[in-house]
Amino acid sequence: MNADLHCHSVVSDGTLEPEVLAARAKANGVELWALTDHDELAGQHRARAAALRLGLPYLTGTEISVTFAGVTVHIVGLGFDADDAPLHAGLAATRGGRRERALEMAEGLAKVGIKDTFDGALQYVGNPELISRTHFARYLVDTGICDDTQDVFRRYLVEGKPGYVPHRWATLRNAVTWITDAGGLAVIAHPARYRFTPSEEYALFSEFKAHGGRGVEVVTGSHSASDAVRYAETALEFDLLASRGSDFHGPGESHTDLGTLPALPKKLTPVWEALVDRVHR
Ligand code: AMP
Ligand code: MN
Ligand code: MN
Ligand code: MN
Repeated sequence: MNADLHCHSVVSDGTLEPEVLAARAKANGVELWALTDHDELAGQHRARAAALRLGLPYLTGTEISVTFAGVTVHIVGLGFDADDAPLHAGLAATRGGRRERALEMAEGLAKVGIKDTFDGALQYVGNPELISRTHFARYLVDTGICDDTQDVFRRYLVEGKPGYVPHRWATLRNAVTWITDAGGLAVIAHPARYRFTPSEEYALFSEFKAHGGRGVEVVTGSHSASDAVRYAETALEFDLLASRGSDFHGPGESHTDLGTLPALPKKLTPVWEALVDRVHR
């Protein structure tokens, strides 16, 4: 099945509206879709309604920012109740502090001569509670300071660079528990991106399982073909369901479009087999 269970709208750091993403997913042949905005559910009802109008089966989604072993890890939640109050409260707490962090990022950038980036980034923000590094990156590209968003991250927005501000997100336990208690299934997003040592990665997967986490992204726009092979093995080792999602943020910025990923390796059990009852049709 062409499932695409990871993408972003203007409600977080994507460039398209939820309705436009639904139409794009449908046009690209997606057969099961989830919008997974960072730390936010404000697009869920719109995405679901748009998908259902198109006859596109829909799973609720989000991508929660977590701090684990000093590193930011993303946990995708799928198939939860989009009106669950504790999940809403947890995400609101996770979003809190983004504005202060962004002001500090702008101070750091001002020190190396790049002025007014807070107001600059704000022009790109669709949700005032969700100012992210991506919005700074777009501003620095459009003002000609950098060639593309990758270039901005590399030069300014990653650890050790002037616009980087360490931040404490949700705990792994809380993120997994919020999702699970809301009736959903928690998935480790794009594990190849974290660059953990083998023992740190073992700890992440073990603790994730212990908290009730059920899945891992194997095929994603953030993984190479060899990453997918590697995390297919990890899924089997930890008895995790496998997920698949483009992590599409917008045309021209994301190299993997909605619905264009390779299939999951055959030996894995897809997450959607455990979510049949949670699909909106
Ligand atoms: P934040 O939640 O504000 O820390 O921003 C994280 C977002 O930045 C991720 O969800 C990606 O969309 C984007 N991002 C992170 N690293 C990179 C990178 N190296 N190149 C482009 N975008 C990135
Ligand atoms: Mn993002
Ligand atoms: Mn992510
Ligand atoms: Mn994402």
